[in-house]
Amino acid sequence: MTLIERSSGYYHEERETASAEAWQAYHDRRLRGLAKHAYQFAPAVTNLFDKAGVKPADISSVKDLERLPVTTKTQLAQLQAENPPFGGFLTVPINQLKRVFMSPGPIFDPQGKATEFWGWSEGFYAAGFRPQDVVINTFGYQMTPAGLMFEESLLDVGCCVIPTGVGNTETQVKIMKELGVTGFVGMASYLRKIGEHAIVEGLDPKKDLSLEIGYVAAEILTDTLRSEVEEMFGMRLRQGYGTADCGCLAYECGERNGMHFTSNAYIEILDPRTREVMGPGEPGEVVVTLFNSIYPLIRFATGDLSAFTVEPCACGRTAPRLTKIMGRVDQVTKVKGMFVHPQQASAVIAKFSQVGKFQIVVTRENEVDSMTFKLEMAQAPPSGDPIYAEITSAIQDGIKLRPKLEIVTPGSLGEDADIIVDERTWE
Ligand SMILES: [Zn+2]
Repeated sequence: MTLIERSSGYYHEERETASAEAWQAYHDRRLRGLAKHAYQFAPAVTNLFDKAGVKPADISSVKDLERLPVTTKTQLAQLQAENPPFGGFLTVPINQLKRVFMSPGPIFDPQGKATEFWGWSEGFYAAGFRPQDVVINTFGYQMTPAGLMFEESLLDVGCCVIPTGVGNTETQVKIMKELGVTGFVGMASYLRKIGEHAIVEGLDPKKDLSLEIGYVAAEILTDTLRSEVEEMFGMRLRQGYGTADCGCLAYECGERNGMHFTSNAYIEILDPRTREVMGPGEPGEVVVTLFNSIYPLIRFATGDLSAFTVEPCACGRTAPRLTKIMGRVDQVTKVKGMFVHPQQASAVIAKFSQVGKFQIVVTRENEVDSMTFKLEMAQAPPSGDPIYAEITSAIQDGIKLRPKLEIVTPGSLGEDADIIVDERTWE
């Protein structure tokens, strides 16, 4: 299939191409229905509304969400432990579920009987998956939902799925070659490993394998890794963002310029400390209200940091887009008595297009904290260039601490490196 064919059409055309007014009206309508249903059937939601002094009838638009508290992942795990298995968020008896999973936390994740329960089909279609595709799904199929979560939507789109699961790289290569596999689902770093394995076996992944399209999730995808894999296989690689609790939350289209919000949830970006609603371009925590009648999580804080844009996208989809996932909220650290939040640092570094990934390393020498910003720069100017003083003073303005800078080559920070690494010891 050509990329033009893979880029045409929409999965939920009316929703995905809605005008700003229609998008707002759609979300308001879904939210009103959700509030009424969840208040009636999910005791945890009843409790949450009652404590906030809010009635379902008070929720007429997404703006009214600000009257309700946020539930963090840690709180969800606590609620589940106090009131097993679902903490009062499930609206049906457990025997009406299709499957139940357990994620680290531990957190139980329900799957209702409706097809496409987790809503990844929009994302697969936008990436370019079509019914002609034969797809290996390399996510795990046991205990955690990943494998089946993606499989349900691949089947819904009409693809043929080979549930290869995790590992067995040699067999994955053999299957890809013998079955003419055109699609991959899994982690980008694993796809690179498959490609490297094929090369060791004397194959040229571009000529000897038929991979055209890939969908990756579960780790931060750097431009370097994406380009490497796309080049290695001669394919298109797109990513989605979601969680085990919520399913799909955002996905890339063919344009590769951010991840469109799903139409199956309402997404807010909130300041992790004050819970203030952030506007376009302002980093904050991804908070989700899930339009799911079985498991209606309301203002669920994912712990992931991101920012969004409302700039038009050439694909025709009108939903806002997450620009990128910047790390985890809970990586906050105290340096010289000042709190350093990953999102503050991300906001500062985002102003410098010359810098790719970055990492803050905190050390302690002679009882004094020291903070080094490692910056990946492809074409780093020589030392003494004014850019370094500009970066240093921007960090000082944003974080109130003076950093050391260390310039490193792109790729050296690793694919899923933490934003803050604390190397201090306290003996
Ligand atoms: Zn788009």
